Amino acid sequence: MTDNFTFELDEDGIALLTLDLKDRSMNVITMEMMTELESLIDRIAGDDAIKGAVITSGKPTFLAGADLTMLAALSKRAASEPVEKVFEAAFEFNRVFRKIETCGKPFAAALNGLAMGGGLEISLACHHRVVADDPKIQLGLPEVKVGLLPGAGGTQRLVRLMGVQAALPYLLQGRSLSPQEAVGFGVVDAMVPADQLIGEAKKRVLEDKEAVQPWDRKGFKVPGGQGSMNPKVVQVFMASEAMLRKETRDVYPAPQAILSAVYEGHQVPIDAALRIESRYFTSLILRPEAANMIRTLFVNKGEADKLVRRPKDVEKSEIRTLGVLGAGMMGAGIAYVSARAGMEVVLLDTTQDAAARGRSYSVGLLEKDVRRGKTTREKADAVLDRIKATTDYGDLKGVDLIIEAVFEDMGIKADVTGKAEAVIPEGSIFASNTSTLPITELAKASVRPDQFIGIHFFSPVEKMPLVEIIVGKQTNDVALARALDYVKQIRKTPIVVNDSRGFYTSRCFGTYPTEAMAMLSEGVSPALIEHAGLMAGMQVGPLAVADEVSIELAWKVKEAAKAAMGKAYEPSPADEVLDLFVKELGRTGKKSGKGFYDYPEGGKKHLWPGLAEEFPLAENQPSVEDIKKRLLYRQAIEVARCYGEKVVTAPADADVGAIFGWGFAPQTGGPLSLIDTVGVAQFVAECEALADQYGPRYSPPAFLKDMAKADKAFYTAA
Ligand code: NAD
Repeated sequence: MTDNFTFELDEDGIALLTLDLKDRSMNVITMEMMTELESLIDRIAGDDAIKGAVITSGKPTFLAGADLTMLAALSKRAASEPVEKVFEAAFEFNRVFRKIETCGKPFAAALNGLAMGGGLEISLACHHRVVADDPKIQLGLPEVKVGLLPGAGGTQRLVRLMGVQAALPYLLQGRSLSPQEAVGFGVVDAMVPADQLIGEAKKRVLEDKEAVQPWDRKGFKVPGGQGSMNPKVVQVFMASEAMLRKETRDVYPAPQAILSAVYEGHQVPIDAALRIESRYFTSLILRPEAANMIRTLFVNKGEADKLVRRPKDVEKSEIRTLGVLGAGMMGAGIAYVSARAGMEVVLLDTTQDAAARGRSYSVGLLEKDVRRGKTTREKADAVLDRIKATTDYGDLKGVDLIIEAVFEDMGIKADVTGKAEAVIPEGSIFASNTSTLPITELAKASVRPDQFIGIHFFSPVEKMPLVEIIVGKQTNDVALARALDYVKQIRKTPIVVNDSRGFYTSRCFGTYPTEAMAMLSEGVSPALIEHAGLMAGMQVGPLAVADEVSIELAWKVKEAAKAAMGKAYEPSPADEVLDLFVKELGRTGKKSGKGFYDYPEGGKKHLWPGLAEEFPLAENQPSVEDIKKRLLYRQAIEVARCYGEKVVTAPADADVGAIFGWGFAPQTGGPLSLIDTVGVAQFVAECEALADQYGPRYSPPAFLKDMAKADKAFYTAA
């Protein structure tokens, strides 16, 4: 028995090692656990009374992979240590797991639950693998999703079991295998009922008199072919390389490193292959992407999901009945996700037809789910039964929460607020889904402004993972806690921001397309701008995005800001482009079939050829790197301003909101992570240079300059 393993020897001389990490709900790989594992392997190898061993887990999951905080710490260390030391630390995983397969005694993994990353890798190092027959179990190597590669033999052993072609998608995309698929691919030897798992694993150990992995036998060949001269394999690598470039545009270093590790590693004996893998792992851990992605995409997103920003002293609540005002695009989506989460929904519009149309949006989505086998007919019907379409405010009598999603008009919103508050219980919370109107202003129409809050969804509601909660001047903690509890119920990720024009996400996101418009007016090639946006890691080009959300909407937002801000409004070169497209050219965006792109019926969209006439190309075109930098920095500086103005109050909210709200380049870990990575002082200096060239929209705020002087970062060392 060690801290993390129990050790039981049976009468056949087979040791059962049960991994059960203390003080953790899930098994993960930690340094302590690795040390204990090595001493257990040594003990088993050295004791003649022990014939072999079975590794299993004492928790519902087998092993969920490496502890992400351990990886983040490793990455931090990497910044200050010599590269040889980092390699040695990385190679530890391979050294210990290799010991399992070369210690002379047979090992079997009894996979009782999910095995991810190092969890699957430890089992691949065992001579035998048996998995429980449970469709909920997933087996996979998802390291690529955190900017890393499976660094405990995964890139080498999976390929030697499945073959190069079959293994690559699982390594490059981090896709999971079901137990059945794993057996089909030969990754696991057998699938048995859960109660026979240990017995079956022990049987395999008892029968194995050699304890040798296939790749340690003479004449071993990788299934499907191997080597740089094998035409089949060469073709696979050529196609994979091309596809990778197309899909990732070289933004992510991890898939490229995985492909190289597989290419080089599959041609040499396993010991050399494992060193190659560790070398590529080291190269990744030395870069900023992995640490940034782990922090934002996993650690901080996880914290947000656990409602880290929820006021602690407010009792937990559950929304049972939700009222949705306005059954348009947003209201319909909100009704759907809420009913799916088990809530009764009252969906209200001005006419019964409009309300019913909103409800029928759910019909369409549920039918699709039934067709695809994602839900059953009974469950789909039950969801639909929970949505009541109505025009009668009396139906809102018992609701716990109202979400208003009527037209973006102060007067109409004030009118429905009054009507709803006349009937809803006194304790109910009233939320607006407005995208632009200040919450504090809207709350003036409420008799209970302290219970008034913003719950800002993104479109399409059922697909977008983020919800922005906006706290008005008078909003109290109960309203905030209830709004957050609701977001958790519908399983989305919340960020909490303070009231301001455009709140946080709309304000910052808007800078991406408007900076591209400014570039157009400077004569930068539109195709260059679009490609540079993608190469910076943004999911859609900035002009394409402008078309998607509608150029007209951007123009309206600009007009409203101008009217509200008066002299304080700072004009941007994008303003004239917006005026031209909306007022003169009538090219308002994708919905109208024409914007910066043309959308031929039945054909593929393409940049509008007329752009060449409207914006003659400048003789000297900027480099791709310069455009990438401008597009990212323009967003990052706005995010920094929001932080300085306390619109967003935690770096984690800023970064999680940027990536999950508007698709900011994920490999950066978010705009504030990007600034930290560049270095605040360097970022400030570069922005000052950009401001000199392009205008005050790039001027760094005073607090950022102070941070630079004091050598501070947004995220302090982990
Ligand atoms: P929409 O035009 O699709 O729907 C608005 C609905 O409200 C219509 O069905 C309309 O009949 C109904 N309505 C109008 N006046 C009403 C009244 N007095 N009583 C009851 N119902 C009334 O608009 P949408 O895109 O769903 O936007 C709704 C709100 O959500 C707006 O405030 C908008 O700013 C905000 N929002 C929109 C998006 C988006 O991408 N469309 C994203 C986030 C937030």
